[in-house]
Amino acid sequence: MPAAGSRSKTTALRTRGPVVAVVGRANVGKSTLVNRFLGRRESIEHPEPGVTRDPRGYPMEWGSVAFTIVDTGGWEPRARGLTAKVVAQAERAARAAHLIVFVVDATTGPTADDIAVAKTLRRAPVPVIVVANKVDSPSVEAELFAFERLGLGRPLPVSALHGRASGDVLDVIVSHVRDIELPEEPEGEPEIGVAIAGRPNVGKSSLFNRLAGTDRSIVDEAPGTTRDAVDEVISAGGTRFRFVDTAGIRRKVKNASGPEYYGLVRSLRAVDEADVVIIVIDAKEGPTEQDQKIAQRVADSGRAAVVVLNKWDLVDEDQRMFLEREVEEKLHFVSWAPLLRTSALTGRGVERILPAVRRVRESWDTRVPTAQLNAWLREVEDRIPLGGRGPRPTKLRYATMARTRPPEVVLFSTGSVSDQAVRALERRLRERFGFEGTPIKVVVRARPKRYGVRGR
Ligand code: GDP
Repeated sequence: MPAAGSRSKTTALRTRGPVVAVVGRANVGKSTLVNRFLGRRESIEHPEPGVTRDPRGYPMEWGSVAFTIVDTGGWEPRARGLTAKVVAQAERAARAAHLIVFVVDATTGPTADDIAVAKTLRRAPVPVIVVANKVDSPSVEAELFAFERLGLGRPLPVSALHGRASGDVLDVIVSHVRDIELPEEPEGEPEIGVAIAGRPNVGKSSLFNRLAGTDRSIVDEAPGTTRDAVDEVISAGGTRFRFVDTAGIRRKVKNASGPEYYGLVRSLRAVDEADVVIIVIDAKEGPTEQDQKIAQRVADSGRAAVVVLNKWDLVDEDQRMFLEREVEEKLHFVSWAPLLRTSALTGRGVERILPAVRRVRESWDTRVPTAQLNAWLREVEDRIPLGGRGPRPTKLRYATMARTRPPEVVLFSTGSVSDQAVRALERRLRERFGFEGTPIKVVVRARPKRYGVRGR
């Protein structure tokens, strides 16, 4: 069975960190660009196409992130014909790399070879950045829109010759690869860190006991990361749920030694050690000020969350509608979190908790491919007034996911963008990509004047 995640297996490269492959047809300036990245003339520049070069990767570092950059121009595939060769190189890059930099020549517009490569890259399981080289003048830059038909987003303009903006491309590369974890983690069930947070007596320990009930096994008690804390692991549906500091919620029953100790402070500490927080609210009482504090804290900590209205059995019909509206209002900090109704007493609804935890954990770790993100941006950009001051309206040029856990989307703009517009963009992102149960960050980076002119 092919091991998932071990991309580098298909190449003979000795690599350090994630692999960034530079693809594109001959003579677009791949080697020159790679040299610019490396800041030295290490790879050989051959003006004539098809010259065999050393296929090894070049280890490099940018913003203290280490990765390996590979000039696929050095790969000599067996395919016959220039188009077939460059497509084969792109296919190999898609298998071997964690990120692909597709270089095109701004002065020629998209060629048949570019279109053939783009077709392959649109199916690539890794992010693709399009870089338009030879943008040596504003008139050339004005022609870049023609490359949008490649379906991989708007290209980043650079001039490898002048060194223009290669730092910007490296910023974008690093934003993609910095969070890639190479497969050193052992195979096995994925593990999700879970904290149960809530005021005393809302039913946290009762819920946990239900979750750990007969149909599932508590796999083990593992020492927690905090001193004197104990984590308990429940295995269910092929996932290990590590409940952080269950002593904090369990011991209370046996040894009621002051609610403040096992109360808020302790559950907040657990929040920081978890991926997902289950926020438990007493449905009979409705969300209180303390519940609001917990919700706000969870949102601030950048954790995924599920809100559980427990003791649902004590709520009568009339209260229910009112209660839901109240939760929406008071817990607006976590408006993105799914809301579950449970009774730890009868067991009703408890079976939905772990699947919801698994789902929101996935959203928390979602990386939307750059091409999809930029396709989305092109759709929504005209529908959202961006605000911004100055004679020219602000434009959004490019979007990328800088990190996950939680997802952070960086939008490169030509000028300032109002907070209102940022919120609208976040709403649109959620409409398109979901992100159920996770906070997301939308960061706008304004690049005044022309894109890529560094230091103004
Ligand atoms: P914790 O302090 O949040 O861990 O709360 P506990 O789990 O110790 O529960 C506090 C009290 O509420 C106990 O008397 C439970 O029996 C009761 N309780 C917990 N969940 C429910 C529920 O869903 N419905 C009802 N009616 N009582 C509950």
